[in-house]
Amino acid sequence: MQIKIENLNKVYRNGNYAIKNLNLEIPNGMFGLLGPNGAGKSTLMRILVTLMKPSSGKVMVDDLDLLKNRREIRSMLGYLPQDFSFFSKLKTYEFLDYAARLAGMKNGAKRKTAVDKMLEEVGLYEARDRNANKLSGGMKRRLGIAQALINDPRIIIVDEPTTGLDPEERIRFRNLLSNISTQDVIIILSTHIVGDISSTCNNMALLSKGELAFAGSPEQLVEEAKGNVWVINATQAEYMEINEKYPVISTIPIEGGWEVQVVAPEVNGYYGKPIEPNLEHAYVHFMENKLNQWSNT
Ligand code: ADP
Repeated sequence: MQIKIENLNKVYRNGNYAIKNLNLEIPNGMFGLLGPNGAGKSTLMRILVTLMKPSSGKVMVDDLDLLKNRREIRSMLGYLPQDFSFFSKLKTYEFLDYAARLAGMKNGAKRKTAVDKMLEEVGLYEARDRNANKLSGGMKRRLGIAQALINDPRIIIVDEPTTGLDPEERIRFRNLLSNISTQDVIIILSTHIVGDISSTCNNMALLSKGELAFAGSPEQLVEEAKGNVWVINATQAEYMEINEKYPVISTIPIEGGWEVQVVAPEVNGYYGKPIEPNLEHAYVHFMENKLNQWSNT
């Protein structure tokens, strides 16, 4: 399956231009939508889950037009919003049963089987009788994904997937999603955290100020940053200068000064060696160098 976005624009009533002439194809599998706060990610997510209409443009899901076939599209969707919260007093299994009914699962026996299976899958079966609003942060997030998946959706949209999760929960959550992505489904992860994307997504897009800055694989993005990441052995005085001049990625204390990683096309005047970039370097390279060049031309 495929989502095809053509010439999409969204202008809010107050004149904020949140999406600007966006063209993007999203294929099967895990897709990362990366960008800083205010880039337009949530706006795009809300349009894709049919909660908001674009100002202009077109979105096709295979041969269905998102604006004309809202009901069909909705039946294919699972959505985990960023600020997902629960109705108070519902037990974990009651909540999921409620979500399943909302998703249109009318047959009680079938629903019970589906709810039990899903609780098992997300590791909440033991917690099924606990009040949903008393679960830990990670468990709530898992219940959130369970409600998004209960109806076997073919398009799964997760906003800021790992917000509030500890590292162990983060890994568990990513694994849960990547197990599903082996099927004929699209999973879109919208995030400002580079680490959410690197380990799991085969394709990604970078949004900046409502515009598409990059679309391709994470490896392609990294490729673009080659030759632009340096490690410098600096004295304290040099470090102060470097910090002013370049985006600094990391700093490690060494004897007589600092080992500093920076993202820049050159580091003339310092003792610097180029290093292999990772996705985080590539993101900084894009945001600092490429996008600034655009806005200066
Ligand atoms: P992101 O999710 O990447 O942080 P958003 O889609 O929330 O970005 O926001 C994109 C831009 O649209 C921002 O400049 C934001 O201030 C603006 N915006 C978002 N929601 C609204 C709204 N309801 N009304 C007016 N402007 C909005």
